Formats: sequence, structure tokens, C-alpha cells
Amino acid sequence: MQREGNTGDEQETRAVSPAMPGQTRTGIGYDSHRFAPGGPMTLGGVSVPSAVHLAGHSDGDAVAHALTDAILGAAAAGDIGTLFPDTDPANKARDSIEMLALAVVRVLDNGFVVVNADITVIAEQPKILPYRDAMRERIAAVLRVAVGAVSIKGKTNEGMGWVGRGEGLACIAVAAVAAVEQRRTAQPVTDQPMTDQL
Ligand SMILES: [Zn+2]
Repeated sequence: MQREGNTGDEQETRAVSPAMPGQTRTGIGYDSHRFAPGGPMTLGGVSVPSAVHLAGHSDGDAVAHALTDAILGAAAAGDIGTLFPDTDPANKARDSIEMLALAVVRVLDNGFVVVNADITVIAEQPKILPYRDAMRERIAAVLRVAVGAVSIKGKTNEGMGWVGRGEGLACIAVAAVAAVEQRRTAQPVTDQPMTDQL
């Protein structure tokens, strides 16, 4: 077995081909935001009537943020905080669905397509169910998958802790991606901030 003297070409091949075509990978994302007075609340790219909104540098859309980290994580393509730094004025009050769309491009650039996503919103309010399908449709279009590949579930925290006291909202997202034959770029990209505009 050859332990030393690997050619640069072999290393290059490993770097450029992170997965075999058809291989699937999963990623997880978590996000939380504090409630601030005044609605509506933007969640999953949908405006939800509410007495509070999610405080944040962007629009505070925790569903979009957790999902962005899940798809980036699945492709080992970085994370939302690195790609869209909250120190960048361009990201202030930014539409988080736009950041998700750019993350999808980053995932494609790394040789993957999104397969599905499953999202759990943990909050005492608002109720997710009436807005669930609108969120699924918005997210599915951005992920470039069928609506049936996007699941969103709402849970309370049974009155416990900061979620239970109604101080904010948490979101957990899981996503799967599949490697495709052709990558769009020569090298995987993971940690450069994305300044592109859609
Ligand atoms: Zn967030």
C-alpha cells in the first residue's frame, strides 16, 4: 500500500469529487430568535399575523435560517453565519429566502441537489398549521424540489424554558442532498461570504 508520494492529481481528484453520483448526505440546522413587539412575523418566507416578530439582523426568519444551515451542512459547504455575516450591511433586514436561494446555488456549485427537507418549529405561538402549506410551497420552489419533499411541523415546548415563557422561537431543520454527475465549479467552495445578489 502506498502511503507516501501521492500525486497532486490524486489529491485534486478527492477535492473536486466529494461524493459519488447518487450518494446522499444529510445535514442539520438549528436557529432561534427572540420575539420583539409588533407583527407580522416572517416564517418560512410567509408573513404570519402575530403580535410579535422575530428580532434579528435579517428578517429573523428562523425557518429559512435553520434550513439554510441544513442544506449547507449536508453538502459540507459552510454555514449561514460565514456566508452571510451579520456585520455586512447588505444582510441587514435581508429577505432570508434570498439567502436560502443563494445557499442552494452554493450547494449546486458543490455538486449536489437538494432531495428533501424536514423542519420542526418550536414555539408557543403562533400556530404553524394554517400557514404550513404556504411555507412548504415557498420553500419547495427555492429548494427546486416538489412540495411533497418539504415537511414542516409545529410543536410547543409544553410551557417549559424560554420557549415556554414565550420569549422566542426555535427551529430545527434536516435536509438531504444527492451528488450529481457534473459539478458546476472546479473546486468545492465552503467559506467565502456570498455577496451575490439574486
Ligand atoms: Zn436566524
